[in-house]
Amino acid sequence: MQSTVLLTGGTGYIGSWICKYLLEAGYRVRVTVRDLGKTEKFAHLKALETGTQGALEFWEADLLKPGQYDAAAQGCETIFHVASPFMLQVKDAQKDLVDPALLGTRNVLEAANRSGTVKKVVLTSSVASIYGDIKEMTDLGLDAFTEANWNTTSSVKHQPYSYSKVLAEKAAWEMANAQNQWKLVVLNPSFVMGPSLTDNSDSESITMMKDYLKGKFATGVPNVEFGLVDVRDVALAHVRAAENPLAEGRTILSNISVSMLEMSKMIKKVRGSGRGLPFMIAPKFVIKLIGFLFGITAEFVEKNVNYPLRFDNTKSKQMLGIEYRPIEETMGDMVRQLSK
Ligand code: NAP
Repeated sequence: MQSTVLLTGGTGYIGSWICKYLLEAGYRVRVTVRDLGKTEKFAHLKALETGTQGALEFWEADLLKPGQYDAAAQGCETIFHVASPFMLQVKDAQKDLVDPALLGTRNVLEAANRSGTVKKVVLTSSVASIYGDIKEMTDLGLDAFTEANWNTTSSVKHQPYSYSKVLAEKAAWEMANAQNQWKLVVLNPSFVMGPSLTDNSDSESITMMKDYLKGKFATGVPNVEFGLVDVRDVALAHVRAAENPLAEGRTILSNISVSMLEMSKMIKKVRGSGRGLPFMIAPKFVIKLIGFLFGITAEFVEKNVNYPLRFDNTKSKQMLGIEYRPIEETMGDMVRQLSK
């Protein structure tokens, strides 16, 4: 018999790939969507079902509305809780980021508690829950961030997205430790890149690549580093985290760290042209002065520019058997898709 799983955020950039792999593995996948009337948000998932052994169902639920995940969770063995807004420019950080992340996680995990059937929850957290500002790695004397590190510095005013993720992950661990019906496995991806299965995602991953391609950073980029990981590797890690009985705790998912300028060079290599792409690093004092034009605060610049950023991905390889795709493939597939 098909195992039934619940997938929140299945309409999104990462969630769509998880949905694809679950269908291909033969699961009955219950995808929750905010509005069943907005069929354009999930039409692409119906196409993924064709030719697979899996089956797809759509259920309506909003992270902000208590009790809305209860019905969909009943009868499920596993919940993949992926849904959470990933935007860096928001009007009201509490309302737009923190509430859906934190209240949403509580709602989904309460549904797991009430289901009586859920045995495992796989939560999509982030490296944003591991650290707040890049400078912390140097301050802590680390060669790389590991799963032992926690973000203790973000707030609703400074790095609010990171704050939303650390609050949500902490709430999830508290709820997991207060019961013994289901096991929690947390995944902490760095910046996710690679091709998208949906044209309707507001994910910062897609926004950032579109910004590069339309020349937003042409005048220069700050010397800021990112951890990068392929969206397909992240999706596969979710399925393995669910299926592997030995999967436990938090796991960083990150392939390689690159600077914004190195990203630009990779894009140029794929496109064969540097038109509109940044070719120089903007000095820190200049970014401090004009950063507000790009939504960057002086505090962000101070604590994140000109510092190294590294992640230890050993656990993801050993526990989940992840073999990271070459970054050239990740960037190549994404740039080609968005350049069409
Ligand atoms: P995305 O494409 O914007 O997906 C976000 C998903 O959350 C969408 O399915 C969205 O539904 C859903 N959602 C947002 N607010 C909701 C609400 N109030 N009620 C119900 N559903 C809601 O972003 P993504 O990049 O795939 O991110 C997915 C997850 O990965 C997030 O938890 C994010 O923090 C985490 N993550 C992302 C990255 C990255 O680089 N992309 C890195 C680390 C972790 P709609 O379709 O209705 O908008």
